[in-house]
Amino acid sequence: MKTIGLVGGMSWESTAHYYRIINSEAKRLRGGLHSAPLLLHSVDFAPIAALQAAGNWQEAGKILGSAAKGLERSGADLIGIATNTMHMVAPAIRDAISVPLLHIAGPTAERLIEDGFKTVGLLGTQFTLEMDFYTVELEKVGLEPLVPQVGITDLNAIIYEELCRGIVRNTSRKTYIDAIRHLALRGAEAVILGCTEISMLIDDAVSPLPTYDTTELHAKALVAAALE
Ligand code: GLU
Repeated sequence: MKTIGLVGGMSWESTAHYYRIINSEAKRLRGGLHSAPLLLHSVDFAPIAALQAAGNWQEAGKILGSAAKGLERSGADLIGIATNTMHMVAPAIRDAISVPLLHIAGPTAERLIEDGFKTVGLLGTQFTLEMDFYTVELEKVGLEPLVPQVGITDLNAIIYEELCRGIVRNTSRKTYIDAIRHLALRGAEAVILGCTEISMLIDDAVSPLPTYDTTELHAKALVAAALE
């Protein structure tokens, strides 16, 4: 099995899920005492979030590019960035490394297509919803993404002020369920949990639409790619 390089810490709450899913999947597929050969570069999220807020994507791209390069130098055969939002700087990261970067949107988009969906709701940070770097990845494979028309600021605040700090509130779960309901009314057939912390709040048991969790699908795809 190849060595996975993971750039995480954005936030560490969701990186902890990646660690568990990657190893569980390696064990499921390989059995016995197998776990995943994995190198993790976990950043301090505060300065990264400050660069996002300042719109300084160039500096953020440099930091994550150099983290990815460090993982490659230490032996990583492929790289995953454990956040949807920071795929905003995926081109800068790709430029910094010579091993493959497995984009987080790819495995989710593929699974939605396999399951026969076309019009899909997208939830995530304000950056993921309002800039087009993420929706273009979905459109590339023929999906028609719908982003919320209202309430993006609240959805975003729940991510940065609660989930990334390990706080899970029922009132916030209700805000997300309402957003999914609105997406369903506009024609969404399924919903992408397009932020790696949203699964702390929402799963199929509470969602009005089938959920596609980018954390789980990305983590499992990294294992599949490492086994190729
Ligand atoms: N983990 C989040 C995401 O998947 C948000 C934190 C970040 O800005 O990286 O988008």
